[in-house]
Amino acid sequence: MMLRSEIKAVEQMYINGSWVTAIGEATRKVVNPANNEVIAIVTEGDVEDAALAIKAARDAFDQGVWPDMHARDRANLLNKIADRLEERVAEFARLETLNCGKPLREAEYDITDAVNQFRYYAGLTTKPHGVTYDVPDQIQAMVVREPIGVVSQIIPWNYPIVMAAQKIAPAIAAGCTVVIKPAETTPLTLIRLFEIIDEVGCPPGVLNLVMGSGATVGHEMARSPLVDKVAFTGGTETGIKIMKTAAETIKKVGLELGGKSPNIVFADADFETAVDYALFGIFANQGQVCSAGSRLLLEESLVEKFIPEIVRRAKLIEVGPGLVETSEMGPLISERQMQRVLEYVEIGKAEGATLLCGGYRIMDNGLEHGNFVAPTIFGDTTPEMRIVQEEIFGPVLAIQTFRDEAEAIALANGTKYGLAGAVFTSDGAKAQRVIRKLRAGITWINAYHPTFNEAPWGGYKQSGIGRELGTYGFEEYLETKQINISLHTQPSGWFRN
Ligand code: NDP
Repeated sequence: MMLRSEIKAVEQMYINGSWVTAIGEATRKVVNPANNEVIAIVTEGDVEDAALAIKAARDAFDQGVWPDMHARDRANLLNKIADRLEERVAEFARLETLNCGKPLREAEYDITDAVNQFRYYAGLTTKPHGVTYDVPDQIQAMVVREPIGVVSQIIPWNYPIVMAAQKIAPAIAAGCTVVIKPAETTPLTLIRLFEIIDEVGCPPGVLNLVMGSGATVGHEMARSPLVDKVAFTGGTETGIKIMKTAAETIKKVGLELGGKSPNIVFADADFETAVDYALFGIFANQGQVCSAGSRLLLEESLVEKFIPEIVRRAKLIEVGPGLVETSEMGPLISERQMQRVLEYVEIGKAEGATLLCGGYRIMDNGLEHGNFVAPTIFGDTTPEMRIVQEEIFGPVLAIQTFRDEAEAIALANGTKYGLAGAVFTSDGAKAQRVIRKLRAGITWINAYHPTFNEAPWGGYKQSGIGRELGTYGFEEYLETKQINISLHTQPSGWFRN
């Protein structure tokens, strides 16, 4: 654990190529969710700081060296960031765990994933973009792709480094300039990433880091007319606010929002695999995953065997500080989030659902100072219950049951969300039929959670707008311009004189 004496001076923001403290000199304490002790003090920006960063990004996009840099230069920059980050995986992973609570092996996976994202987009930067058309009237018609401009990127606290890489890498590959804001609770790995960005010689103003609250700094990033696009990952309520604010200047908006994703298990599924992924689907990262399989849909004939087994296995999950090697599930990100989750447990009970396990804050074995909640499962739910409809964003699973394929599909699609979903069955045709009917952007057959940087990430319905990752995520940072070149220079003759 980090000792108070290890806390360095106030951690700064990175604006226009320099480390700076907030104009108002405010600070914020950052805590370790495993014991709520202070692990860092960071400078706390406000609207004026955000405005400075946005101006720097605007200037860097419109003038200076960046607009003249080629795809190869941008690819080099991304590769250098990837190389430096890869050298520091262990250090970044420890810091991510310290700040977010997630078990160390999950954090190690996250940092490696971020390295891969930088590499993937470095590769994509130099690949061909654009097309030509065979058109009449002695015209050569072509389409070129250009960077969208200045981009605001607002990221959440559940995957800080992954979310940062997922947004920064395609934006830089496209030639955009960036202002990025971490969640106020989890800025630490992003600050270290900016040390790397500083070391590799990124031109001033191209990548800027601002810290501060969503209501002030985040709002300005969505509002400023100098910004061309805002890319956001977080809760749906905040996404709605950002979209409304951005609408004033018709900004492009990318939203990666919440989910209440169905995990459908038919009676003919491989039992062990389905139980294993049902647990992984909801309890990985303490359930603080937008694509979590937070609704388990069981075929009725399976209920008697499946429920006792998943409850037994959930009770065996070792909950503890992420830095302890044996911990399989860590603390929730904040006391606020823990209270929110525990409130949902009370709502579930009051609605008449049966609490099958968990549902409480863990107050023994030295965990009483952290935000630890036991793996929680509810049975006997009905579709209209709030614990079935609303994103809880914690280790809470709601079980629903179905009689046949049609009912499974209807229940699966029966929320306002459409981010992810899975089906477990040994019938290949049935698996395809069900997946094709799911109104969701990220799906699995006989697995839950594995996704890859090559493939698009995003949701249907109120789970978001646009896609991240892969070539689809690159597209989101590009404008499209048609160029028509006359091959025969002469007047049009449209008007008589
Ligand atoms: P938010 O969605 O509010 O936070 C995500 C990011 O948005 C943070 O950087 C936050 O800043 C910023 N933000 C907040 N308000 C605004 C605003 N008005 N304008 C611009 N940016 C803003 O999540 P919360 O932490 O409040 O969590 C609430 C719920 O949201 C969770 O319980 C969960 O259900 C959902 N959530 C979903 C996530 C997902 O990936 N789907 C991720 C995180 C949360 P700041 O740090 O200052 O709040």
